[in-house]
Amino acid sequence: MSHPDNCLFCKIAAGAIPSRKVYEDDELFAFHDIHPAAPVHFLLIPKLHIDSLAQAGPEHAAILGRMTLLAPRLALEQGCNPYPEGGFRTVINTGAEGGQEVHHLHMHVMGGPRPWLRG
Ligand code: 5GP
Ligand code: ZN
Repeated sequence: MSHPDNCLFCKIAAGAIPSRKVYEDDELFAFHDIHPAAPVHFLLIPKLHIDSLAQAGPEHAAILGRMTLLAPRLALEQGCNPYPEGGFRTVINTGAEGGQEVHHLHMHVMGGPRPWLRG
């Protein structure tokens, strides 16, 4: 399940491929999406390589919880307006039919004034 040697997001989390960093700690990394679909659009990933949400197990409950709880804080820091008038969208695409293109689990966080480019 782990292919960190040829995984784009593992390389981004390690700094081997440059990105516009939003946040980093021991377990998590966040960076701006290269093709933003909204005024604010960043990706939040575990540094640990997990292919997708389909491969997540009970051992990943804490990291998934941390990602979910970090998203609102980073969304505000990146310029999303506050709930309820503002807010943001979180999306985890899983598998080909789920629209997943990069096979390292990631959460899209999108927000800002509408209209957005997509969605
Ligand atoms: P997915 O379709 O897998 O849910 O989302 C992958 C996202 O990664 C896409 O929104 C795409 O724009 C973004 N992306 C792909 N390659 C790169 C890259 O090299 N750098 C950054 N910052 N984003 C990327
Ligand atoms: Zn990876």
